[in-house]
Amino acid sequence: MLQVKNVKKSYTTGEFTQVALNGVDINFRENEFVAILGQSGSGKTTLLNIIGGLDQYDSGDLIINGKSTKNFKDGDWDAYRNNSVGFVFQSYNLITHLSILDNVEMGMTLSGVSADEKKKRAVEVLERVGLKDHLHKKPNQLSGGQMQRVAIARALANDPDIILADEPTGALDTTTSEQIMDLIKEIADDKLVIMVTHNPELAEQYADRIVNFRDGHVLHDSNPYLEAEDSSHYELKKTSMSFLTALKLSGKNIATKKWRTGLTAFAASIGIIGIALILSLSNGFQKQIDAFQSDALAEFPIIVSQQAVNMDEESLSEMRAEGPLTKKDFVKSNEVYLYNPEENSVTHKNNINQEYLDYLNKIDADSVRSIGYTRVVGMNLLRKVDDTVSPVSFSTSSSGTSGSQSSSSTGAGMTSMNGVGLSSYPAPFKKGEESYLEKNYDVLAGAYPKSDTEMVLVVDNKNRIDENSMKNLGFDIENIDSIKFDDIVGTELKLIDNDQYYEKTNLGNFVPKNNYAEMYDNAGMTLKISAVVRQKEDVQVAMLGQGIAYSDTLVEEIINREKDSDIVKAQKETDMNVMTMEKFDSDGKQNFIAYLGGDASPMMVYIYPKDFDTKDQIVDYLDKYNDGKDNKDKVVYTDLASTVTEMTGGIMNGITLVLVAFASISLIVSLIMVGIITYISVLERTKEIGVLRALGARKKDITRVFNAETLIIGACSGLLGIFIAYALTFPVNQVIENMTSLTNVAQLNPIHALLLVAISIILTLIGGAIPARMAAKKDPVEALRSE
Ligand code: ADP
Ligand code: MG
Repeated sequence: MLQVKNVKKSYTTGEFTQVALNGVDINFRENEFVAILGQSGSGKTTLLNIIGGLDQYDSGDLIINGKSTKNFKDGDWDAYRNNSVGFVFQSYNLITHLSILDNVEMGMTLSGVSADEKKKRAVEVLERVGLKDHLHKKPNQLSGGQMQRVAIARALANDPDIILADEPTGALDTTTSEQIMDLIKEIADDKLVIMVTHNPELAEQYADRIVNFRDGHVLHDSNPYLEAEDSSHYELKKTSMSFLTALKLSGKNIATKKWRTGLTAFAASIGIIGIALILSLSNGFQKQIDAFQSDALAEFPIIVSQQAVNMDEESLSEMRAEGPLTKKDFVKSNEVYLYNPEENSVTHKNNINQEYLDYLNKIDADSVRSIGYTRVVGMNLLRKVDDTVSPVSFSTSSSGTSGSQSSSSTGAGMTSMNGVGLSSYPAPFKKGEESYLEKNYDVLAGAYPKSDTEMVLVVDNKNRIDENSMKNLGFDIENIDSIKFDDIVGTELKLIDNDQYYEKTNLGNFVPKNNYAEMYDNAGMTLKISAVVRQKEDVQVAMLGQGIAYSDTLVEEIINREKDSDIVKAQKETDMNVMTMEKFDSDGKQNFIAYLGGDASPMMVYIYPKDFDTKDQIVDYLDKYNDGKDNKDKVVYTDLASTVTEMTGGIMNGITLVLVAFASISLIVSLIMVGIITYISVLERTKEIGVLRALGARKKDITRVFNAETLIIGACSGLLGIFIAYALTFPVNQVIENMTSLTNVAQLNPIHALLLVAISIILTLIGGAIPARMAAKKDPVEALRSE
């Protein structure tokens, strides 16, 4: 059944070659107890290892059940060791961190026997060797004889055909030796047992056949088996260790070194802690910024102004890139360069014509809350106080250009003149929705306007208002420092048409009439202050100036009525100011016509997005208008909010990146550390590797065992790191709150946490990969030899 044919084996160390087997020929019967005797160094162990498939012969052949092993692959040898051979070593070679039961079960674990079956068979063989009461002890809690019994039980567990015992009693006293020999003899009843010993008496006493060995060949055989050409059926079941087994094995090993594993995991987790903290801080800050942005910046309109700065792509990117001057911004030269500032000017006059306004009105109504228009229209307002009617002054500028240009940049429709501040607010873009006023302003007294003829008085956060505004509205401000809301709400004003308000003199110019009382009683439209309003407390940016505010639609109506008034018509025909008869400077005429209500095109358009996200849609829509247009027809907009966003976002990302890079260094350190720890573990577990291989474990399985170990360390350090980082966010938040009054800044994003645990596992696996490979490559014979 087992034939060794002219097997030769030599070992080369450096220059020196040691012949261990020098042509061994020996056949074994299916059932016998063979003792191999011989001096130390005669090659007995080498022969046993070759028969057991632990070591490979150089030449010759090993024939198992009539089948040559010359073409055996690694997997065949592994299966052969697992199914057909049981090893018993002089030094027992038990896995110390596993219980007796687990040790015995290991071979069956490798061949995939079910848990119940495994346990049943293990208990059976342990009972047979007399150790039924020690199932759950660890090997180091047993005596030498007991340990050898465990080893025998392990060898028997998978019910192999061959038991190979290498000086099984070498480390035992005489009495114990005899007990062990009795046991082996009993086993030999139905198995082939090959036992190496250098105790001739024991061999004589127990063995059926004694083979004397010397210098790597058989010297004498007491009972040779000459013809053995039986061709029995030969079949091997492939072994494989499940990853769960590998995990269990490594878990139990790690459990015996809790402190070391704990400290390793902690050290390895420091990088994770660092990165997790940095990410949670930047995450939190970003959230704060985002919250601020969607609150405040979404309320920030996209502005289209007639006098826009040219924001074509190039100059826009130039502007954004602008920072403090750096070395490369300075030119080296011995000349002075001349340039024309006009040509290099970046201003661009937007032509906000009807086409553009129509285009705007077709914008997706779901993305826009409202569109505000600034049209600088003067209003001929009168107020009656105690039967005296007087004009409400809101303009003192003599030229009639009404100072609108300087004020136009301050806010939506705000025409802050040296009188009553006037502003207009946009109507909701979709009918029936909340208006700009309702969204951003609280009513302190009265009610939100229900029609276009109702206006509001806007006060600041301290309920203040410029005293001149009130004076010009006709309030008596002598010796008082406040006015009751009730005295303001309900105040009526009369808006007089140009044709009623102005008259043409004999000189040909226009002047305001002064029969105010008559105008008040007989003409015009009644406007009413319906409420006193104030910016809501949670609104960050509000655009209405102090004073009177009214709806854009009122302005549109005024323009509709005034565009054909006499004064407008007259003004359109001459380059002289029809009131003062002075000549206009550059844009003066156009502005004055606008002031008189003769020009429908707005100075500025404010597009208020529904929220921060819809802003992008709006911007896209506005960009589309310019597609294929000449530069001069393009309409460019200013989106201050996006400039702010890009800046803050960029800075945050930059800082985060730098910090994460630093923290990553500690991750690399831990990677190296885990590599070293795994390497040490491989060294420590060398014997175990040998035992596992002897039991039929594949190289792959050994890799698995160590990968399992690093996996456990990686998962531990990842989880530990996340846990510590999470715990640290509380004191960190406390410190930040004390310093900046920002609450809950550090927030660990669960996705980041998961990712970091994964990264920790992957990195430790990488760190342990090389040592794990080294372990797998270990020669099982040498591994078993190691101490
Ligand atoms: P025995 O078991 O009979 O004492 P071995 O089979 O262990 O003898 O060894 C036979 C010979 O081969 C000895 O000289 C030993 O030094 C040598 N030998 C065994 N294994 C190795 C090895 N891995 N490398 C080098 N020489 C070895
Ligand atoms: Mg030996």
